[in-house]
Amino acid sequence: MTVKDLVIIGGGPAGLTAGLYAARGALNTLIIERGMPGGQAAATERVENYPGFPDGIDGPDLSMKMAEQAQRFGCEIIYSDVDKLELHEKGFKITYSDEEVIAKAVIVATGAKPKFIGVKGEQEFHGKGVSYCATCDGAFFRDGTLAVIGGGDAAVEEAMFLTKFAAKVYIVHRRGQLRATKILQQRAFDNPKIEFVWHSVLTEIKGQEKVTGIEVKDVRTNELSEIKVDGVFIYVGTEANSDLIKDLVQLDERGYVITQEDTGTGVPGLYVVGDLRQKPLRQVITAAADGAIAAAQVEKYLASLE
Ligand code: NAP
Repeated sequence: MTVKDLVIIGGGPAGLTAGLYAARGALNTLIIERGMPGGQAAATERVENYPGFPDGIDGPDLSMKMAEQAQRFGCEIIYSDVDKLELHEKGFKITYSDEEVIAKAVIVATGAKPKFIGVKGEQEFHGKGVSYCATCDGAFFRDGTLAVIGGGDAAVEEAMFLTKFAAKVYIVHRRGQLRATKILQQRAFDNPKIEFVWHSVLTEIKGQEKVTGIEVKDVRTNELSEIKVDGVFIYVGTEANSDLIKDLVQLDERGYVITQEDTGTGVPGLYVVGDLRQKPLRQVITAAADGAIAAAQVEKYLASLE
């Protein structure tokens, strides 16, 4: 069976940065990524708050550059779902696509996924007008009317991106104030294609073959109303992809992994980085920082085994 110094599960900014640092530290390193490099960053149209790119950089472009940089120093990347992560006498055993690899140390960087709201029509029309990725699906709605649900950075940023295609975008938010960063809020308020539907929650997504409208409830009056839309983009937060390690580590009440400051989990040789960790700020830069710290810790840990 192949033995690696380090296996990194997940190839978003956290995993790719860990791969870069570990490979530069001459560790025999493998990243296993289930989709495209970059994770959620790859599904972001433009990243404007990663230093070094004064005009911003497209999410997919930044992701590919991070992957290239890690590979340039010898980090191997393979594309597969990981089925199992287990403790093993030599460290850890990782099972993927009917194959197994042994790792002396593991960094888990599986990130987070979009949360569902759970209203009628959400599942039924997923892919038929309901989407969680504006970058992927926005262009299907040229000149259409769209609704974005949520009031955080993702909802506001993606609503603005959608105005490139759509004639009109409603932002439906459950309170009277946005959670998003002030600069994003101001841009949305200034955008003539965006209309806010305040103090309102989504109660149903309506349609036949495809989405034709949404029903929303004003939480102050309980009054229901219908808005005709061609598509609904849901951005009500994320939840941790912790399934793989939930039995090995400690999770907080929201399912995020509780780690030490140095990304250690209490299990020798097992580190958790990026959005999967309990942390105060989930951004590309904090994910990358976690990856660098974890790789440095792995180097020290492996040296201590010798
Ligand atoms: P978020 O910051 O958790 O915001 C979720 C939004 O959805 C909140 O406005 C919340 O309302 C609302 N919400 C939650 N559950 C709801 C429900 N059941 N029904 C209706 N509305 C609901 O999540 P996010 O915007 O996806 O961002 C996730 C993380 O990524 C954040 O740390 C964010 O800063 C980061 N991010 C950053 C950028 C950037 O810096 N450019 C871009 C995207 C994401 P309340 O406000 O009332 O709680």
